[in-house]
Amino acid sequence: MTQDFDTRIIAPGSTIGIMGNGQLGRMAAFCAAELGYKVHVFGPGADSPTEQVCAKATVADYTDLDALRAFAEDVDVVTFEFENVPHDSVKLLSELVPVRPGWKCLHISQNRLREKTFCNEHGIGTAPFEAVRSLADLEAAVAKLGRPSVLKTTELGYDGKGQVKINADTDLAEAWDEMKGAEAILEGFISFEREISVIVARGVQGDTACFCPVENVHTNHILDVTVAPAEIADSLSKKAEDIAIKLVSAMEFVGLLAVEMFVTTDGDILVNEVAPRPHNSGHWTIDACITSQFEQFIRAVCGLPLGDPAHHSKARMKNLLGDDINDWQAILTEPNAKLHLYGKAEAKPGRKMGHVTWVLPK
Ligand code: AMP
Repeated sequence: MTQDFDTRIIAPGSTIGIMGNGQLGRMAAFCAAELGYKVHVFGPGADSPTEQVCAKATVADYTDLDALRAFAEDVDVVTFEFENVPHDSVKLLSELVPVRPGWKCLHISQNRLREKTFCNEHGIGTAPFEAVRSLADLEAAVAKLGRPSVLKTTELGYDGKGQVKINADTDLAEAWDEMKGAEAILEGFISFEREISVIVARGVQGDTACFCPVENVHTNHILDVTVAPAEIADSLSKKAEDIAIKLVSAMEFVGLLAVEMFVTTDGDILVNEVAPRPHNSGHWTIDACITSQFEQFIRAVCGLPLGDPAHHSKARMKNLLGDDINDWQAILTEPNAKLHLYGKAEAKPGRKMGHVTWVLPK
């Protein structure tokens, strides 16, 4: 596979293939259209948020090799708004069409053990961790890292799914059962002052551009509010941006990488996890930055010059989960509020239905 070294420019007028069909693909498709591209989306489930706004959709499973081949024939580049696409599928696509980011980057970010190991190998701090593949491993890991600690599946966990906090009284056999036999990681519990994230783009020539660090407030493990920029010392902002740039450069990443970090109570920064795609904590950039994260994503994967990520305003973004969407009329009457809805038919509890960004003076 040579796609990691591919510097081909995908010019406006071309078709961008997006794997994954949720709200991230939808907002990326808007920016692709602004730059004169067509989008062909691939993912399971008809009438998806992305399908509703793009030229073409393949509704198929990520493992459907025939559908993937036909998709690759139709597009000029493939990227992801959902990173958990099976390795064999990415490999097949990579043989047929430029895939950005490449499979090596996806492989690292799909698995918490690989992700943390990669960070540590490049001198970037994370929570201390141990691999857990059995109850005996868990007992040994808890003896080493202590309580509290956090047990997580290494793959496919998000928004707190596949996670158990190991408290003083937690039964380890029950905690291990919750992993349902999947490979897991035990992480030491980080005493953090706040959670921040940095979104960084890297182009095909190795050029990088960072959005400013933002603060993320989670409720029930789901992102609730993003405050941009994060109200932290300049020295910490610089350190967070340096970490993000070091990571994309070390991975030879092409595209957009979101890096979630903890600011610890003793003033250090540790990486929690990375996502190789636009990120919920970057939605504010649509309304408050010169270039949004979605435009930057399209520019990076198409080999275009990166845009200016500077913010012209401060912002506060709130996710609209489940029935929060019913507030849409009131939000529309607020002069500095920008409402974004994702076209999802059913408002299930915790489901991301939209978001609102309050644009604030700088
Ligand atoms: P994650 O799925 O890894 O993003 O974890 C979801 C949330 O759980 C994080 O945003 C933190 O609030 C919390 N969390 C995860 N890992 C740790 C840790 N090692 N120490 C303390 N809190 C954690």
